[in-house]
Parts: sequence; structure tokens; C-alpha cells
Amino acid sequence: MTKPCRRLVFILFGLTLVASAGELNSRMELTLDRVLRGGPPFYTVDFVLADAVPEHVRRFTEFSGDVSGRYLGALATVAQFSGKKFPELDRVAAKIVKLQKADGHFGDPFSPNAVTKSDMATMWGNGRLLIGLLEYYRLNPSPEIIACARRLGDCFVELGPRFNDPAIVEKFSGDQVAVGYICWTQIIEGLVELDRLTHDEKYLALAGRIAVNTHRYPKEHSHGFACALRGILELYRVTHDGRWLKQVESEWEGIVTSGNLLPQGALPEVFTPWIARDEGCAEADWLRLNLALWAETRNPRYLDNADLTLFNEFFFNQFSTGDYGHHKFSAEGIAPGCARAWWCCTFHGLRAFPDIFNATFHREPARLCYDLPVDGLGIADGLTLRADSTLAQDAGVTLTVTKADAAEHVLSIRQPAWASALELRLNRRSFTGVAQAGAVEIRRRWQKGDQLIVHYVMRTRLLPNPAAASRVAIWHGPWLLGVDEQDSPAFFNEPMEKNRVLLPALPADQNLPLKAATETAKKIPFTAPAAHLALPYLHGGYPIQPQTVTLRPIAEHTAVAGSTAWVWWFQPGK
Ligand SMILES: [Zn+2]
Repeated sequence: MTKPCRRLVFILFGLTLVASAGELNSRMELTLDRVLRGGPPFYTVDFVLADAVPEHVRRFTEFSGDVSGRYLGALATVAQFSGKKFPELDRVAAKIVKLQKADGHFGDPFSPNAVTKSDMATMWGNGRLLIGLLEYYRLNPSPEIIACARRLGDCFVELGPRFNDPAIVEKFSGDQVAVGYICWTQIIEGLVELDRLTHDEKYLALAGRIAVNTHRYPKEHSHGFACALRGILELYRVTHDGRWLKQVESEWEGIVTSGNLLPQGALPEVFTPWIARDEGCAEADWLRLNLALWAETRNPRYLDNADLTLFNEFFFNQFSTGDYGHHKFSAEGIAPGCARAWWCCTFHGLRAFPDIFNATFHREPARLCYDLPVDGLGIADGLTLRADSTLAQDAGVTLTVTKADAAEHVLSIRQPAWASALELRLNRRSFTGVAQAGAVEIRRRWQKGDQLIVHYVMRTRLLPNPAAASRVAIWHGPWLLGVDEQDSPAFFNEPMEKNRVLLPALPADQNLPLKAATETAKKIPFTAPAAHLALPYLHGGYPIQPQTVTLRPIAEHTAVAGSTAWVWWFQPGK
């Protein structure tokens, strides 16, 4: 059943997407189109606002304001970034103000005394709504919206002592997952933003009191925790108090060293020992957190991790419908089945794109730096460059100068660890830059129209499974490679778990000499033919007939049916 689904993707989205510059643009358009026009379910104004009323007519309306807030925040941020207008966004914003309760909150009432699980659900949605309202306010400032956000912030300040009570911290730091203490700590983000816009210190004071109560614990909901960390980083950005940055960096290390960052750059939906599924929201948060930490510290470990998550889990998690959601882990990779989480992940995935585009380049006093090999715009004084990435098709990126003054400027192009070299062609001629630590630099009087083509020479490498020594993963460039059931059904014949891959001997440079796959590379959206490699293997059921299967980046999951199983942990044969 391989080809029909791929063709469907092409027909549905091909017309709009093939014309756009590169993969990142196409992926943002895919999810934007899902939110504006896709379905079911369809995001009509009343459907979105049901959790703010509340009307319990769809799933998860008890998380009062959750979909409403995410809808506002994601669309407003994309509108601000792209210059597009979404009239339906303004209709939701106008209507939501009228739904606010007398005490400032939205949806179901808080209980009068002890904090309950349903209070946590209500708090979660209201926290998402506060940041969503403020992101909308940034796009379209109005006295009504800021007054509405203030009333909600005041409600949080009023509830602060009850939710900050050490007994409540302890009670909800167990296995409550989506209604755990994270429902309270994730509101830091909105409180800090409210302080930025109103300069009312009471919101910042509450954010600080919540930040000191923010800890990682077993079975915690990773999306909520990562949201809280992003909030604490914003607290640092506003206060410049180094203890908040220290807290975020130390929690980042805690996630990585506790086995909660999976090799494909994914945070599990729930932290160990309950690792079972991924979650689009958590992946988007982790990606945004790493980009923000990179911006604050310029420590390359954050950029390397953003790059890892972007090209693997974040792309993998996006469905052909444009939704984001859940996939169940298996010993080999991903089990059949999936959940398109239209109630959260679809919006949170969309919300991440402007942050990614804005991190494609960064500027330093003496140079403009191209960091992520995706589409983007780099602007420095006297020099503007546009990046069009065809990394997935031909391992290349084209950088075009769109504005230049007469002065000399330095362009620094990051050479990620997954590339053994960067080969350059400037205005169609081979060109050598100056090698720096982790980068190649070009100093030049740039001219408008100059075109620099960067070819990333990709390494192919093996990664042993940290949890199962007999299994290995194969990487090519930034991509984790695997085999999916839709494209390679025979690989999944019983007994698939006895398949043994036949790896060539590893040379001294550790660059695995696998050949390119011979199949013709058709132009199918969201595939990466630049990384299609041929993998010889012996099937567990008929090893007498040696086989070859095509390895593909797991990022291609967007191009296949969402419920397709993947294998990326392989067992080498003798
Ligand atoms: Zn989610």
C-alpha cells in the first residue's frame, strides 16, 4: 500500500508546498493549513472556545482554555513572523474576552478549599491561555486583551499561596502526569510575559516563587516540565539573575543524563520509568528550549541538540495531515499505531516554527553566522542573505545575497559534527573558505546577487543502543535512518525480530561505507533521497536468500501513513 498514500500527500499538499523554497517552509505550511482548513475535527471558533466557556462537547475541555490559548498563541506568532492575516484568529480573540469569569479565570470553577486534580486541569488550560493571549497581544495590541490577561494574572496571584504550598508540591509530584504539579509551574512563561508588558512586579515575584518549586521527578509529564524550564529561562532574560539560567542549565543536564533524552532527539511523553510514547508538544518544547539556551549562552551543545531534534524527532513527529502527536516506542523503533493530538501537539508544533526560522542565522559584532542548514533569512548591518535549503534532496543549501553595502563582511557557516567537510561554490566556481573551530568563514565584499552553494559532506556512522548493547542505529548526516513498514513491507515479515543486518567493516575514520540506494528518487514532499542508503540484511525467516532494504531518514514519517511501524535499532549479523 506504499505508493497511494505518498501520492495522496503529494496531491493534497504538493501544489502549495513544492513551489515553496525548502523543507522547513513546506512543513510549517502543512501544519498551518491543518489548523486553518484541515480536519476533522475542524477548528471552528466555537469548537476552539468550548474549553473557555466551558461546554464539554469535545475531548479535554476540562483543561479550561487549553486549545483556546494554544490556538491564539500559535496563529498569532505565525502571523507576526510571516505577515499573513488570519481573520478567524481575531474572531476567537474578540469572543474569548467575553467568556472570562468574575475572578479572572476561564472554564470550570476552581474548588474553594483543597487543590484537586480537576483544579490542576483547570490551571493547566488557564496557563496556556495566559501566554496565548499575550502572544496575540504582541501581534494585535488592544486595551481589552491586556486587561483580560491582567485579570487572569491577578487570579493566579490570588491562588499563589494555595498552589505554592509545600504539601501541594509534594502531593502532585507523583504519577499524576497531565494533572501533576507541572500544571502550576508551566504558568511561569505567561507571568513573565505579563510583567514584560505591564511592568507589574507582582507577576514576576510569583513567577520566581514558582520557579524555586520547579523540579524534575520520575513519571513527570515532560511537556509541562519543559514549558516550565522555558518560562524560567524567560525569567532570566527579564531579571538577568544568573541563578535562573543556572537552574535551567542544570535541569537540562538532568534530563540528558537521566536517560530522558532519547537518541532520536525526543523527550518521552512521561519521564522514566514510564517511557512509552513521544509527544509533539514535548519535542517542540525541547527544541525551543535548546534554541533559547543557544541564544543566551552560545554553548554549542544546545545548538547541536536543537539540530538533532529538528532533523529527527520534530520532523518525524509531524503527520502527513499536518498534525503532531504520539507514537509508541518499541524495542526496534516505533510500533504500529499513533495518535494525532489535535488538542495540543498540533498547535504546539506550529508554534515552534517561527522560533526555528529565527534561529537559522545569528549575528555577532564581526560576523553573520549560518547555524542551521534550513531555510531562513540572515540580517546584519550592511548584509542580508537568504538561505534556501535542499539538504534533503542534494545535501546542499543555497545562500543568496539580497542586500549588500560596499564594506567587507564575514559570513561564518557552521560545520556540524555530522559533516566531514563543507564544499563551497561561489557564483558557480569552486571556492575555499577559512576553516575555524566548527565553522568555515568567508570574508568578502559581498554583492547583491552573489550565490554561495554549500555542500555538506555527510558522515555515515553507527551508534550503539545505550539500553541494548546488541543493537545499533545508523546515521547519515543529521538524520537517523530506519526502515518503515509502508515502504519496505518484506522487512517486516515474521520473524522480523530475527533479521540481521550485514554491515561493512568500519574503517579507521569510522565512516561506514554503505552505498547509496539505487531506486530512482522521485520528488516526493518530506522525503530525503540524499540519505537513502542500501542496507544488506538476512531475513529471520529466510536467511538463505540475502536481501537489501533502503534506509531512509525517520523524518520521512511525514510522507507515510501515520500508523506505520519503523525499525531503527538493528541487530548486526556475524
Ligand atoms: Zn501534546
